[in-house]
Amino acid sequence: MADPVIYLDHQATTPCEPAVVEAMAPWWSEEFANPSSRSHRPGLLAAAAVEQARGQIAGALGVPANAVVFTSGATEANNLAIKGLAEAELLAGGSRRHLLCLSTEHRAVLDPLRYLSRHGFALTELPVPPSGLVDLEQFSQHLRADTLLVSVMAANNEIGVLQPISAIARLCRERGIRFHCDGAQAVGHIPLQPAALGIDLLSISGHKLYGPKGIGALVVGPGVQLAPQLHGGSQEQGLRAGSLPVPLIVGLAKALELAMADQAERAERLAALRDQLWQRLQALGGIHRNGAAAPRLAHNLNIWIEGVDGAALQRALRPSLALSSGSACSSGEPSHVLQALGLSRQQAAAALRFGLGRRTSGAEIEAAAELVSAAITELRQR
Ligand SMILES: *Cc1c(COP(=O)(O)O)cnc(C)c1O
Repeated sequence: MADPVIYLDHQATTPCEPAVVEAMAPWWSEEFANPSSRSHRPGLLAAAAVEQARGQIAGALGVPANAVVFTSGATEANNLAIKGLAEAELLAGGSRRHLLCLSTEHRAVLDPLRYLSRHGFALTELPVPPSGLVDLEQFSQHLRADTLLVSVMAANNEIGVLQPISAIARLCRERGIRFHCDGAQAVGHIPLQPAALGIDLLSISGHKLYGPKGIGALVVGPGVQLAPQLHGGSQEQGLRAGSLPVPLIVGLAKALELAMADQAERAERLAALRDQLWQRLQALGGIHRNGAAAPRLAHNLNIWIEGVDGAALQRALRPSLALSSGSACSSGEPSHVLQALGLSRQQAAAALRFGLGRRTSGAEIEAAAELVSAAITELRQR
């Protein structure tokens, strides 16, 4: 039998925790009623499960329960935040037309912003230095009197760097600018309390924190007006129509609870394994870390490798390792994030993203370091 593949792609997705699957189990076939069916007991029971999950998630994030709007994931939450805010501004007769983000944002932020830039809004995609961290001085210089929204992710999905969210929020708030934060890679992995940090809109994804795929949430701060982007029912305070997926919502709440429970301990353990991997690979020479060493996610390492062809490296590792050269969402093209850090297309193609996870063991990291080292050495001799 072939050796199992070592999975080091936890920033593309994480396995759903067995305890989460268990928590979801009764809500598929036994208690299947629609939580919008308020005229019978099964419906009321499902509604109570949804509200309990909402309360748990809100409590974990330090916001009121009605701040949590369930969506199909972070992509939809980003779309609701960005397009919903822009549309509400137009409907209210407001005159703010400028949007700003970093050039290293996820496609699920960049694409809705670029969509708006084709529909009457101006967009600044702010470059970042090779550290991948925002230059706050330059950032504040690009804020305008008519800036409506700033969108900056908390933790980068490719290079793992953590942006100074609190400082960004303060600069926005002083100017009456709304601040959206894509927290898909951060929530459950680092302490993040949106209200305390001054985040107006926070996107969350279930499958990035050991929960199910197809569920997420947008956390909406007090006083933030959004126009719904899905029409068809009055669910979620009229902000997001569609029958609620009760099992997925229950699963999201359970996954977040578990992620917060072992967050500090997991981060400490994975940082040690990640650093061990970095030491091993660095010894080969001609290996560069992409993005600042700190602050960054404990479970992320992203490197580019001199003297190897990216496609050949991917082919060599494929039988034994599951990892990626960039984002799972922009397959094919060399990473726009790495190019934003100043890497050429060719250098960006010769990059590897290691995303460690809850079940990653020391033995797996040891084996992965061996496999990658052997592949690089072999390719460099060709
Ligand atoms: C995965 C991811 C998304 C998309 O989340 P889905 O729930 O899969 O839609 C958005 N932003 C970031 C930063 C991500 O890592």
